[in-house]
Amino acid sequence: KYQSLTYERVLEIHKQHLSPILTAYFPKPLLLHQGHKEWLFDYEGNRYLDFFSGIVTVSVGHCHPKVNAAAQKQLGRLWHTSTLFFHPPIHEFAEKLSALLPEPLKVIFLVNSGSEANDLAMLMARAHSKSTDIISFRGGYHGGSSSTLGLTNVGPFKTELSSGLGCQSTMCPDVFRGPWGGSHCRDSPVQTIRKCSCAPDCCQAKDQYIEQFKDTLNSSVAKSIAGFFAEPIQGVNGVVQYPKGFLKEAFELVRERGGLCIADEVQTGFGRLGSHFWGFQTHGILPDIVTMAKGIGNGFPMAAVVTTPEIANSLAKSVLHFNTFGGNPMACAIGSAVLEVIKEENLQENSQEVGTYMLQKFAELRDEFEIVGDVRGKGLMIGIEMVKDKMSRQPLPQEEVNEIHDDCKRMGLLIGKGGIFAQTFRIAPSMCITKPDVKFAVEVFRSALIRHRDRRAK
Ligand code: PMP
Repeated sequence: KYQSLTYERVLEIHKQHLSPILTAYFPKPLLLHQGHKEWLFDYEGNRYLDFFSGIVTVSVGHCHPKVNAAAQKQLGRLWHTSTLFFHPPIHEFAEKLSALLPEPLKVIFLVNSGSEANDLAMLMARAHSKSTDIISFRGGYHGGSSSTLGLTNVGPFKTELSSGLGCQSTMCPDVFRGPWGGSHCRDSPVQTIRKCSCAPDCCQAKDQYIEQFKDTLNSSVAKSIAGFFAEPIQGVNGVVQYPKGFLKEAFELVRERGGLCIADEVQTGFGRLGSHFWGFQTHGILPDIVTMAKGIGNGFPMAAVVTTPEIANSLAKSVLHFNTFGGNPMACAIGSAVLEVIKEENLQENSQEVGTYMLQKFAELRDEFEIVGDVRGKGLMIGIEMVKDKMSRQPLPQEEVNEIHDDCKRMGLLIGKGGIFAQTFRIAPSMCITKPDVKFAVEVFRSALIRHRDRRAK
């Protein structure tokens, strides 16, 4: 236990000295002291099942002994060299990571955060294509730096000052909330309740969304473009999935205009989606650049951009890119240990098995409760979209979403929120969770929904 600060003193310091934007996630802020595997412990010793893993970041479990040991070993050897000098951890990590990516994605640039990775990917795409315009989906989150804010299209994050020169948004082909779409458009054991009237096995919705995408290309950007950024599944927007085949066609359209295709794997990578190690593989596509962060370091600040030798050379010819901390020995030692743990503990397979089980269990709640509009996702990236009623699909009011969220916390379950109206619960635990954890989580969530129903009935 940390003895130095009382809960009240922490609240005071927070108010006086920390960014006012860092607001508490719960009415009574959670003060955490310790983490172990998929569990967190607060200052009073209360235990929580962490089903959001520090915003989809703690990939192999809190304080994993193997990752801790690697960090400790490196801590006593060498912390920092800057990229001016060589050190074995960076080469070991580069070899391990590149082995996990298909040809020709073999050149790695190491940075410190997802925003930095996407910043660099923007620079690369522009340097290689010699064009400026970049497209990304509405609802997509790609970073909070002033350039990546141009890619991020989630209302509250946008500012008047930094809209991102040359960035254009395009309609997100959201099969639940978009104007067209339906469950038939994607492979999943759990199907979104269909909205469109086309036959279950057809993919009309995809074609409608592709028309919108073409419209953006024809009307909002220059003839030659630098690139297109997409998350394989949108995270911050509430685990939004696209119609099957959409990204494949969109990539072709972008390439016809000389643009590069960038997969933002910050949330979807490292086996989280279960069936594949990378989210782009679930779409049967091959990006030109892949960006990754969060789970790569299990919570240690590190990130990477992986690309082809040709694109890497275009960048090298056009600019001297430098990063003081990127690829530091600590991060690389930790990154290697994380990759080893994912493999040794079969965590990708666990994501697939336990994630699919969880999706099915939560889908049962959708059938039971009118306010659960959609249950979707893949592996251990699951979204539960809350609605006023299934017919209207209007978002459940914030206050009601918050009550359910807080009830879950009081019963020992931490989950995330997302979506333009913060209407979707997000579930993305460490990949070491078990079926008993899922049973507990589903029961807690169910109890919170019953309490909500009882409150409204009064
Ligand atoms: N891309 C995606 C898909 C993200 O979810 C995030 C963070 N939420 C980022 C990029 C930015 O990462 P960071 O916060 O490490 O800058």
